[in-house]
Parts: sequence; structure tokens; C-alpha cells
Amino acid sequence: MDPSPLFYQAGPALPEISHAQGVYLWDDTGRQYLDGCSGAISCNLGHGRDDIRDAMLAQLDRVAFTYRTQFENAPAVALAKALVGLTHGQLEKVFFVSSGSEAVESALKLARQYFVARGEPQRRRFVSLRPSYHGSTLGALGVTGYHPLEAPFTDITIGSLKVAGPDFYRHTDADDTRHVARVLADTRTAIEAAGPDTIAAFVLEPVGGASTGARMLDRAYLEGIRALCDEYGCLLILDEVLTGIGRTGAWFAYQHYGVTPDLLATAKGLGAGYYPVGALLARADIVETVMASGGFQHGHTYAGNPLACATGLAVVEAMQREGVLSNVAARGRELEAGLKALQARFPWVGDVRGMGLLWGVELVADPVTKAPFPAEHNYFARIAALAKEEGLLIYPRRTLDGLAGDHFLVTPPLIIDAADTAELLDRLERAMV
Ligand code: PMP
Repeated sequence: MDPSPLFYQAGPALPEISHAQGVYLWDDTGRQYLDGCSGAISCNLGHGRDDIRDAMLAQLDRVAFTYRTQFENAPAVALAKALVGLTHGQLEKVFFVSSGSEAVESALKLARQYFVARGEPQRRRFVSLRPSYHGSTLGALGVTGYHPLEAPFTDITIGSLKVAGPDFYRHTDADDTRHVARVLADTRTAIEAAGPDTIAAFVLEPVGGASTGARMLDRAYLEGIRALCDEYGCLLILDEVLTGIGRTGAWFAYQHYGVTPDLLATAKGLGAGYYPVGALLARADIVETVMASGGFQHGHTYAGNPLACATGLAVVEAMQREGVLSNVAARGRELEAGLKALQARFPWVGDVRGMGLLWGVELVADPVTKAPFPAEHNYFARIAALAKEEGLLIYPRRTLDGLAGDHFLVTPPLIIDAADTAELLDRLERAMV
């Protein structure tokens, strides 16, 4: 019998990390790993940071936890102001949570309450993409487009309308412009068939995450979705759980595209692996409508506690102080060039896509037909195991559903320097030969 009482996932016994510093971790056998995926794309500032530890200790010395209905919470107010500032005031209200799933869940529930408050209770459906990943709670899972995760729960989730987003790698339209136009036209048809006045919101990751291997959207597509939402009177929710807080080279990925959401969920990088912190950012009038109708009927015990918010604030301030966004842009260019060189060398690297320090590499059996490897080959797991042998951590997944295949994400900490970026690429190349 397995001696451990933990049950996360079946798999071999894993080594334990004894210490970590910057972009490196060492396990209890002394092996060193370069963190090419920031843990779960969360340890954005690397490990062992004195400034974050000092800020957390200072807050711990004052008070770790107070409850939001009983006391004012200065770190929460300060972090909320900082986040609003990062959107240049486009999203003026903040609701704290402790995870990405909770942030998405909160967005869905706020959207629903908004329409109930406005006398449009028939707006109770959501539209989202397949493939996509929005979280593991039942609401967030309901808008997730990823069959293996959905399968046991399809009859008890909210079951959103799933539509295809653009696929710039596999489409067979005449060019990208016509592809986006066709995808938008198909989306319009699907919404018309479902009944536009039943839709509360469209939920999107502005750059696909682990479920798609960083599948990209583009400005024309996002502008088209924004226009559809405006035309049909529903909200646009962006899931920036993974892309938010600098991962793509902007504070939020939507800022690359000039398309503003009504609600935005973020998490992972906000606590940067030091503490769980997530946030829902919202347009002020949406929040005011809900608050005027009796308040938001939602909340979690640990959400926005002083220690969480002091950590998030220390993360944002460190990033501002150190100009981390310009590092993301510079290192992102190096990573892109290196990954594309690997693509030129290895024919089974079908596609390299991404932005900033969020890169997806898709592996194919045939680069001409773009046919994925048969599932039983488990290439996604094999390449990650080979990389680990070379002392490199990457984030492997397979998109089933016949929509793509094996891929992995390369998402190092946003503070990685040029030498370690080169080292990452060297280790990856050694794993691939
Ligand atoms: N949305 C996206 C885009 C994510 O990548 C994730 C986490 N992988 C989530 C939501 C859920 O976040 P969490 O695991 O913190 O609940």
C-alpha cells in the first residue's frame, strides 16, 4: 500500500526539493533543476526572494489574518489600488480570492447577479472555447473545454456553450484574416441558435494556457468577440489567471490587443508562489449594480487576508521596481529565437507559438499533415521526463479531443537572465536529441 496518505494523482514517487534560489531548485539527492515552467506557471519572481520574505514577515509580525467583515484591511486596499492602476483605471473594482478557479467562479457569479439585478434573469448561460481551461470548481469547470476533465461532471456543471476559437496552426482557410472571419461567423451562428438574450458572458483566455499549448488569439478575433458581446448585451470575461501580472510582457495580456474586458480573473503570478492570491477585477458600474441589489452573494474565508495581500503587493512592487516587464520582452525574444531554431532542427516540432515568457511547443508525427502522435506514445510525458533528466522542468500536456496533440509550455520565471535563458535552451536541446 502507498505509505503516503496524499492522493493527488497516480504516478511514481517523486523526489523532494530541499532548497531553491532564483530559477534553480535542488532536490534531496542533490540534483539541480532549472525551473523552465515557474512551478505551475506561478513562481514568476523565482525562488528565495528576500524582499518578498521580508514583506511577508513584516505582515506576519503585525497580524496574519483578520476577517473582512470585521476589520479594515490596509494591505487589501493597497493591493486593490495597485491592480486598478495596472489596468489604467479601466477596471476599477477588485474582489480578492485565493486561486484562479475562485477568480473565474467569482466572475461567473458576479455576471449572473448583475443580470438578475438588471431584470434579465434569463441570461444564465456562458460561452467559452474548446479547448480551454478555466479551473476545477464546478462553475469554472462548466466553462472549461477539455473533455477528460469535464467527463465525470457534465451533467452537474453549468454546461456552457463551447465554440471553436482561431487555430492559426491547423486552419485550412485561405489566410489568417479569412480564418478569423469564419470563426467569428460560426460563433455568431452558434450564439444566435442558442438565443443571444440567454447569454450572460463570453469567457476567454487571451492566450491559451496549458490546455492548448499557448494557442494564440489575435487582435481581429478579440475585437470581433468584443463587438459580439456589445451587440448581444453580454459581458466579456477574460481569464488572465495564467497570462496576468506580466507573463506576456504586459501587465495583462488584453493590453497587447487594445480590447478591454468587463471582468478579469487573475491569480497564479500575483502570489508568485509565495502565497495563494487571486483577484477578480471588474467594471465599476457592474459592481455598483450588484451592490445596490443587496450585495455580492459570494466569498471565501481566506480571501484577501492581510498576509495574502501584503504578499501580492510585494510582488507587484518588486516587478515595478525592477522593470520586470522589459526583461520579459528581452528574454522572450531570445526564447522565441531559440525555440524556433529547435523547430528548424527537429521536424517533429510542429509549432512554436506564444508571447513574452509564455511559449508553447507542439509536437507532431508529421509536420506536413500536422497529424498528432498517437496518444499511446505519450510524447508529452516523455519529453518532460527527458528534460528532467537534463535538469530542466517544463510543463507538458496533451490536448485530446482530436484538436491538437502533444505539447509543452516553456514559461520560466519572469526574472530569468540571458545566461539562464541560454542554459534553458541548451538543456532543452539536449533533451530533444
Ligand atoms: N484559468 C487558467 C487559464 C489557468 O491556467 C488555471 C490554472 N492552471 C486556472 C484558471 C485555475 O487556477 P487554480 O489552479 O489556481 O485554481
